[in-house]
Amino acid sequence: MAYQPQVVDAKIVSHNQKNGLFEIVVNLKDRTSCRLIFEKEAASGEPVLTHVNRLLKEPCPICRKDFLCNCMSSYKDELAAQAIQMAGTP
Ligand SMILES: [Zn+2]
Repeated sequence: MAYQPQVVDAKIVSHNQKNGLFEIVVNLKDRTSCRLIFEKEAASGEPVLTHVNRLLKEPCPICRKDFLCNCMSSYKDELAAQAIQMAGTP
């Protein structure tokens, strides 16, 4: 069973000019919400997703827990690509 995250909404919610860290909150089609924390790679300036925190509005779509789990961290690449495509970078 392959989970396929599908971002339907993404927006930049914070940006630290000093260290380049920024956060995007995404809503997925299955009603999951996640806060994605990015940092900019020093050399290239490319954003790198470092943390995925699922917001606890809905049970996890993968393990069905309604408390913290790490399932969404397995989908960093998909989440980061879709989030940045939709919200851009600060
Ligand atoms: Zn989970």
